[in-house]
Amino acid sequence: MIASDRIKKLDEFFKAFSIISEGNYVYLCDIKEDYSRWSKSAVDYFNLPDVYMYGAGSVWEDHIHPDDREKYHESIERIFSGADEGHEMQYRAMANDGCYVDCTCRGVVLRDNNGNPEYFAGAIKNHGSMSYIDTITGLRNLYGFFDDVKAVSKNKERNEYAVLMLGITSFSNINDVHGYTFGNSVLRKFSRMIQKSFPDKEVYRMDGTKFCIIVDDMTQEQITDLYDELHTKAYNEFHVDGQRVPLAINAGLIAVDDFDISAETIFSCLKYAYSESKNHCLGALNVFENKLSNDNTNIFEKINTIRTSVMRGCKGFYLCYQPIMYADTEKIKGVEALIRWKNDKYGIVPPLQFIPVLEQDSLFPLLGRWILRQAMNDCKFFLEQYPDFLISVNISYTQLERSDFVSDIFAILDETGFPANNLCLEITERCRLLDMKMLKHKFAMLKERGIKLALDDFGTGFSSIGVLRELPIDVVKIDREFVKNIENSPVDRKTIMFVSSLSEAFSTEICVEGVENIEMRDLLRKYKVSTFQGYFYSKPVSVEEIAKLEQLDKCVL
Ligand code: C2E
Ligand code: CA
Ligand code: CA
Repeated sequence: MIASDRIKKLDEFFKAFSIISEGNYVYLCDIKEDYSRWSKSAVDYFNLPDVYMYGAGSVWEDHIHPDDREKYHESIERIFSGADEGHEMQYRAMANDGCYVDCTCRGVVLRDNNGNPEYFAGAIKNHGSMSYIDTITGLRNLYGFFDDVKAVSKNKERNEYAVLMLGITSFSNINDVHGYTFGNSVLRKFSRMIQKSFPDKEVYRMDGTKFCIIVDDMTQEQITDLYDELHTKAYNEFHVDGQRVPLAINAGLIAVDDFDISAETIFSCLKYAYSESKNHCLGALNVFENKLSNDNTNIFEKINTIRTSVMRGCKGFYLCYQPIMYADTEKIKGVEALIRWKNDKYGIVPPLQFIPVLEQDSLFPLLGRWILRQAMNDCKFFLEQYPDFLISVNISYTQLERSDFVSDIFAILDETGFPANNLCLEITERCRLLDMKMLKHKFAMLKERGIKLALDDFGTGFSSIGVLRELPIDVVKIDREFVKNIENSPVDRKTIMFVSSLSEAFSTEICVEGVENIEMRDLLRKYKVSTFQGYFYSKPVSVEEIAKLEQLDKCVL
């Protein structure tokens, strides 16, 4: 009989894991108990006994083509004995109709603290059943794109290649105004327009309104020129059913010269470049700069390594904490959790070097949950002595838009036993880009449980009073940008005054970030500010150092 906590753990891992393996069958095996959970779709498709199975390795072996069984058997034995870290193999497996389909199976071993194999997690891709064609446009789809990028990357003879992602902004408006059928015609027509602009190139339809092109025979300038032309044409000359539909398009570009970088990393960097084009470049082509970072290392390589760490149980990540102080008493109110990553090669890597790209990645929810769990576990013990201690955790807008965001947070609160009242989620004004109705609904559920909400980086980039008006925000955090020159800038002082009166109107507290010295503190105390955060009090430090600090009224290190 397996202990229920191991089954619970297996289920949780399985859930996390199935998110990142969209389109594939997933299996997760508790090696110690030889007890596995498989995707329901695999159980149905291959006629397996159940989603939970003992000895799934041999059950599965019976489904594998006799000619492929030996190599499979050998590999599974090596995995269970701890000799291998995982496998990637092709075999044929028998479906419920008695026919064999080609499968690619990829699995990794997770080890316990003693280095013994504990879990074996993997995904099976069924080439027989997977469609590579998008039904609306007839183009190759996301799966086709990934396969082709991998094929290009394997061909090491080739020189550098580039991947372009382009897409339509505010497409939902088109659907809302004209209906879905018209929307589909727009997508079809736009895909032809792209093909015309990039003749002889394979165009891929990705998720939603995004398209990709792999280019290996053009310079960046040539691609930019073609895109600029398309950008103008899409706006001025796009017609469907005799109606002019001005399309606003955006594009991101990435040049790949390192062939050891995974297709998934390339895709996340590309999505980041694309989102920057949309948010900051007014639709101009935005190139992901794979320049050497200040430590002389290749950014792709670094992100690829960090991404792999997420897959390996968030290895190398840790949280620092920065105190948040009451402005009047200068006692500690709580802390903000700030993530770091380190390894031997790169040392300590700050979040701005990986969060903006990783938050575009399908793996990010794994890291997001790790951060929440870690922060709650790290800080639980403060609550015994300081029952009002508040821990603030940064939440990316890509976490917020996931349908399981709220249930994940509740599950982590239950699991860690951390009281919801002591948790504050910091969201940025970027959430304005998401559907307000969906956000309101989620925030109402979070508030009902007692969780607090802070609006981070107020005043930068996406300023919107609408966010304050629409959402139940408890704290507005004024960005450091407005504070760093406050002593010399009357405009910045006026801004702080304006935001503090605005917050009063919306009954929210104000937290000022980036308080670096006593002069800033004294100046800021003239405004209606509730809390301060900044190097004047403390830099982000380890939880142990916070434990020492919080004995003090004022925590200057
Ligand atoms: P943020 O949420 O605005 O965090 C505050 C940043 O300002 C932190 O940088 C902090 O170290 C820095 N800071 C605080 N006080 C001062 C000061 O007095 N002077 C100066 N010069 N800087 C100060 P950090 O840790 O590098 O984090 C940067 C950003 O990365 C964060 O900005 C946040 O947007 C993101 N980030 C950090 N941790 C996480 C996380 O766990 N999840 C997510 N989604 N994003 C995170
Ligand atoms: Ca923050
Ligand atoms: Ca901030």
